[in-house]
Amino acid sequence: MRIELQRVQFMPKVLKPGILYFAEEYGAAAHLCACGCGAKIRTPIGPTEWSIDDGPKGVSLCPSVGNWQHPCRSHYWIADGEIEWSGEWTDEHIKAGREREAAQRTKYYAAGQTDKRKLGILRRLWRRLFQ
Ligand SMILES: [Zn+2]
Repeated sequence: MRIELQRVQFMPKVLKPGILYFAEEYGAAAHLCACGCGAKIRTPIGPTEWSIDDGPKGVSLCPSVGNWQHPCRSHYWIADGEIEWSGEWTDEHIKAGREREAAQRTKYYAAGQTDKRKLGILRRLWRRLFQ
């Protein structure tokens, strides 16, 4: 299944399948779950969140999307505009992932990078690298 990047100023209320909406100004992206269950999946975009790469072959979202808070528990990657399915996450896997995310955030903020000026530089750098 293909998924396309669509840049928007505001996140639309109703999302269409097969489109990854990206409101850059708000560092927000959203799409409908790739399994077709209709769940709205939000992925914040930023240095400690997801990153979007709008490549020549299509959009990539990194890291993978794990919808364990939804009944379908879908887990997939968006790479080069394609949905690549991953195995279902076990509870231990989910817990480990959450702990890793929390640790990453703690490390990031502990490094004094909450400073707004530095964040601004990081954001500009990130834009230059990925856009
Ligand atoms: Zn789903």
